[in-house]
Amino acid sequence: MAEVTHPKYNLHDFKRLITLGTGTFGRVFLTRFRQTNNFFAMKVMKKSEIVRLKQVEHINSEKSIISRINHPFIVNMLCTFQDTLNVYMLMEYVVGGELFSHLRHTGRFNISTSKFYSAEVFLAIDYLHQHNIVYRDLKPENILINRNGHIKITDFGFAKKLGVEDRTWTLCGTPEYLAPEIIQSKGHGKAVDWWALGILTYEMLQGYPPFFDDNAFGIYEKILEGKIYFPEHFDIYAKDLISKLLMVDRTRRLGNLQRGSLDIKNHQFFSDINWMGLLNGTVIPPMIPIYMSQGDTRNFERYDEPLPDIIPPDMIDPYQELFRDF
Ligand code: AMP
Repeated sequence: MAEVTHPKYNLHDFKRLITLGTGTFGRVFLTRFRQTNNFFAMKVMKKSEIVRLKQVEHINSEKSIISRINHPFIVNMLCTFQDTLNVYMLMEYVVGGELFSHLRHTGRFNISTSKFYSAEVFLAIDYLHQHNIVYRDLKPENILINRNGHIKITDFGFAKKLGVEDRTWTLCGTPEYLAPEIIQSKGHGKAVDWWALGILTYEMLQGYPPFFDDNAFGIYEKILEGKIYFPEHFDIYAKDLISKLLMVDRTRRLGNLQRGSLDIKNHQFFSDINWMGLLNGTVIPPMIPIYMSQGDTRNFERYDEPLPDIIPPDMIDPYQELFRDF
């Protein structure tokens, strides 16, 4: 996985159009490259905010991880650059919007739709794990749908490259999707992503996540208790897979046993999945997003737009050293 080097661009090379989404300390805008008129998604993060929220390491690692990986179900990053105020990440624009919006709009997905997205997510996570990367932030907001209906995982802000020591300790992620070992600060490895795949599969089939409460503490309690409610109509293979992925004891969790991810791939829930066909795009996706042109944003929510940044020409960047690799 060699890092691709790109010519350095700057903000003036792009025309900012509208906000596609917001993250913890940044925004993603639809932009147009002035030279070619092509559309891109540009993630903009304020250096001072990154520093205030102690996220320098995460941002640098996001850049380094995403620029080294290449997979059909992971968003493609083209280049990064920075100025005195912000760091910028330029990505392909994924026109179909978040899986989250489609799920909320439909209420819940049927079994074959859920299976399709779970299987594509499995392949993306398995690829990351093969490269010793834990994703750590799997949720329907971070799964985008491309123009052909296949998934593109975005947001590597919490992803972590594992070292020789196979686990990591930072508390991050979204309450509903946190694995028990993260809540208990026991250190966590690849098994947290298989836990999150269990949550995701349940949420797609049911329309809401299995551990639900009106505050984060209540959610954590339910996660640690690990009691999952399955309605009677629930598909038996889905129930079996989800129960095995949502095993509180990670030493008994599917994906984290002797045969690793193969146990998930070979589970009966996925028995009619054509894995190669998914990867080479010959399987027809359950939903093709509607869009009229390359820069169509109908599949995204509307946001209030911030004023453009004004950077005084004599401004000194106090954080230059921290983002040297960007
Ligand atoms: P992030 O800060 O990376 O979590 O991104 C925040 C939101 O921006 C996502 O949930 C998406 O709605 C949107 N977004 C991120 N990357 C892209 C992309 N490459 N194409 C289209 N929308 C994106």
